[in-house]
Amino acid sequence: MMQFDVAIVGAGAVGNMTAYLLAKKGYKVVVLERKESIGKKVCAGLVSGRVIKMADSETVMNEIKGALINFPDGRKVAIGGNKTYAYVIDRKKFDQYLAEKAMSEGVEYKLRFRVKNIYENKINGSVRFRWLIGADGARSIVAEKFSFGKVNYVNAIQGEGKRGDDDFVEIYFGNEFAPGFFAWIVPDGNKLRIGLGSKEGGIRKKFNTFVSMLDIEVKNIRGAVIPIGLRKFAKKNVALVGDAAGQVKATSGGGLYAGLLASKILAENFDDLTRYEKEYMKEFGNELKKCLILRKIFYHATDKLYNYFGKIIEKDIGLLNEYGDIDYQSVIAKQFIRRHPLLAISMLFKCLCYI
Ligand SMILES: Cc1cc2nc3c(=O)[nH]c(=O)nc-3n(C[C@H](O)[C@H](O)[C@H](O)COP(=O)(O)OP(=O)(O)OC[C@H]3O[C@@H](n4cnc5c(N)ncnc54)[C@H](O)[C@@H]3O)c2cc1C
Repeated sequence: MMQFDVAIVGAGAVGNMTAYLLAKKGYKVVVLERKESIGKKVCAGLVSGRVIKMADSETVMNEIKGALINFPDGRKVAIGGNKTYAYVIDRKKFDQYLAEKAMSEGVEYKLRFRVKNIYENKINGSVRFRWLIGADGARSIVAEKFSFGKVNYVNAIQGEGKRGDDDFVEIYFGNEFAPGFFAWIVPDGNKLRIGLGSKEGGIRKKFNTFVSMLDIEVKNIRGAVIPIGLRKFAKKNVALVGDAAGQVKATSGGGLYAGLLASKILAENFDDLTRYEKEYMKEFGNELKKCLILRKIFYHATDKLYNYFGKIIEKDIGLLNEYGDIDYQSVIAKQFIRRHPLLAISMLFKCLCYI
């Protein structure tokens, strides 16, 4: 029987970062990963400068200067253009880079190790731990085994295509192909990452509909899920981080900043897991809750409502340029309400009418 202070399930970015930070504090850490190699495949990899700084990573492939938002009525709204707003990373390399950092601190990795049983501080009868961290993604077995509660999911799909060089992200709203969510094109400096999320099934058909609008050949198409909603994430000697905890911005599905922030706060408060949960909620809980409220509105939005949003957004692009922040998306909503209180009331009314 192998004995460790901390067992981490999942060698994604968040599991690796958590392993690295805990090993640096002197804990004996093992990471258990079901796959035979490290590196997530289905991710647009669009992150803020904060993520690059936290991970100290050299995996940036492209710098994003702005976004082109497409509405169902054909309206296109361009924002940004003057500076770098976000970065596109090589997600596989990013995860591997963090794992290498963890290994250099003495973390042990067990690949092709699918966690099935957790019983009396033992995993699969062969790994004994004092503390257990579930960093095992959207469908976390740790969350299930320890009854951390349920989250909702959005179905997602992503493929790769090619066009000219680009440094603008494209966002598309429309219920025909992305009901309850949106579609995206993220240029990584070489290829385009083309994907969408949907609250409904039949995602491949929806993806084909979207791709047919683009006139781009798309390959390497893969499905995934995005967790929506936060569950409790600390109990006695067990905690969750990243997608496993639902630490994802419900507006965009982006989870790297929220998850890596959790690694940092967990390590700072270790081994008081209740304090980890409390401190995380203090620092980022409100933002995640506000994103959930915005998601609820978009979840039910009709094309008419999207078109109305397009018209409104066009009225004050300066606001988006000034306050647009992919990690703190509620800030823009707050500033909008401050600057345009009457429009905000009218939007709320439209939401009630069009939903
Ligand atoms: C289509 C799509 C696009 C996205 N785009 C972005 C984006 O642009 N920007 C952004 O910030 N976020 C994005 N996200 C979200 C982001 O990918 C996740 O938030 C992030 O991967 C979470 O990392 P994690 O380490 O918590 O989980 P994961 O990366 O999912 O890692 C979990 C790991 O646990 C392992 N595992 C699971 N179960 C077991 C088990 N029983 N035993 C052993 N190992 C197990 C898995 O194999 C996996 O390696 C996107 C997500 C999707 C689906």
